[in-house]
Amino acid sequence: MLAVHSYGFAARITRGPEASRLYLQCPLTDTADQWPDERVWDELGTRFGEPVAPGPITSKQVVPLRGVVFSPVRHGRLFLLGDAAHLISPMGAEGMSLALHDARRPRCG
Ligand SMILES: Cc1cc2nc3c(=O)[nH]c(=O)nc-3n(C[C@H](O)[C@H](O)[C@H](O)COP(=O)(O)OP(=O)(O)OC[C@H]3O[C@@H](n4cnc5c(N)ncnc54)[C@H](O)[C@@H]3O)c2cc1C
Repeated sequence: MLAVHSYGFAARITRGPEASRLYLQCPLTDTADQWPDERVWDELGTRFGEPVAPGPITSKQVVPLRGVVFSPVRHGRLFLLGDAAHLISPMGAEGMSLALHDARRPRCG
């Protein structure tokens, strides 16, 4: 489940039948202590536009995420592949697939 809200991005990505990875965009200056579990669940509900059933949160971190595409990715016989060529947020959940794709078919750009 993904949401782009005026408060920021939110995502709930299932990791098996009983676990999820949750993402909430927040100011980079925030600390995990400023995000008690109740606030996390409330904020997810607000951004998703519907209540979210709470559960235990086992780990919480404020992580700087960014997306970058480097260019050019080729210098002669030297190729940049994977995250070295295009760093995408873990929320995209496709960095590994893209890296494998690059290795199979390096870009010529
Ligand atoms: C929290 C998180 C969740 C993710 N979830 C997903 C997901 O669900 N699905 C998905 O497809 N992708 C996911 N990704 C992205 C995926 O992990 C990366 O896109 C992928 O691993 C990129 O592969 P890579 O080979 O380019 O880089 P890496 O896997 O980072 O490999 C680079 C390697 O080079 C080594 N290295 C660095 N510097 C040097 C040096 N100077 N000398 C020698 N070795 C060096 C590093 O130690 C590392 O082993 C996730 C990433 C994160 C952080």
